[in-house]
Amino acid sequence: MTSATNCQSCRRPASDTLLTYRKGTGEVRREGFLQCDICERFACADCLQVYDIFSGYDFLCHECAQGFGASPARPRGH
Ligand SMILES: [Zn+2]
Ligand SMILES: [Zn+2]
Repeated sequence: MTSATNCQSCRRPASDTLLTYRKGTGEVRREGFLQCDICERFACADCLQVYDIFSGYDFLCHECAQGFGASPARPRGH
């Protein structure tokens, strides 16, 4: 099985930045896009995040995460 080369949410191609996923205060580097556990779309770090809902290692796109009422820490001040 080959993974997608473009994010299936925002359509951008894989790059270092888009493959660095945030997990809490740390980062998870990946070779390819991660797949959302729920909708199974491959998505970049902007469209998908590592959430701490079930096992502490759940990969959910933002849309699906909202369905769970997840509220990840927002480091941005705005
Ligand atoms: Zn994306
Ligand atoms: Zn999803």
